[in-house]
Amino acid sequence: MPVSRTLDDLKSSLSSSERMPLVFLGHGSPMNAIEDTNYSRAWTELGRTLPRPKAILVVSAHWMTRGTTLVDVSAMPKTIHDFYGFPDALFAQQYPAPGNPGLAREVVTLLASHHAEEDETWGLDHGAWTVLKFLYPGADVPVFQVSIDMSKGLGYQLEIGRTLSELRNRGVLILGSGNVVHNLGAMQWGVGAKPHDFALEFDALFAAKLEARDFAALSDRSGLGSLLRMAHPSVDHYLPALTIAGASDAGDDLTFMTDSIDLGSVSMRSFVFHAR
Ligand code: ZN
Repeated sequence: MPVSRTLDDLKSSLSSSERMPLVFLGHGSPMNAIEDTNYSRAWTELGRTLPRPKAILVVSAHWMTRGTTLVDVSAMPKTIHDFYGFPDALFAQQYPAPGNPGLAREVVTLLASHHAEEDETWGLDHGAWTVLKFLYPGADVPVFQVSIDMSKGLGYQLEIGRTLSELRNRGVLILGSGNVVHNLGAMQWGVGAKPHDFALEFDALFAAKLEARDFAALSDRSGLGSLLRMAHPSVDHYLPALTIAGASDAGDDLTFMTDSIDLGSVSMRSFVFHAR
């Protein structure tokens, strides 16, 4: 499977396809939302490259449910500041994009076999808005979130992606937001923090398996073993990457972005699947 590596490749591929690409972004620290970083710059550049979708469906690491998959059907999803100890400037951020209640209700029906239910209480958590503000700064594309069911196995999230993939032909951009490696306990602050070996190892393994389209390996908890437990003491930041993998198909190319390890134990690796 050829892998295109450059933004120019991505641009020409995107302009020739009707089928919406799939995007997974490693969001990392909420501070990326208000700082000029390599990441926020890459997200801005990606936003200029992506087609304008009719709606955006976001699967964020920060909306976790158990036993159900919730879909936000509110008309105006509120901006949620779901973090503590950050500057006022971050709490002042708003991303006032409208929702899409009609489409969100269709997604509830589509995911009926995944215990999907309507929700009007969530909104846009920081996994969503801290990256959306760079991708679509006008906040003028309707957006809604779908939760991750933490009570199910890894393969469940792949299946959800597979089920959602038909939305790609209807102008819907599916955006996953998490991190390919996310171990907060092992984070190191300060300039020059070296990546942990487990972080480099899991990140490289993930990239290789994703390139090979070996999604079974990526969702095999026992096969991934202790490396997965080190990379993800809790899999919340991993699951959105599996949703995006599940929504891809054999006709997609894959482009990686920002493949660095932040703070020793947070992979900022991002990727885009796009129809050839
Ligand atoms: Zn996060």
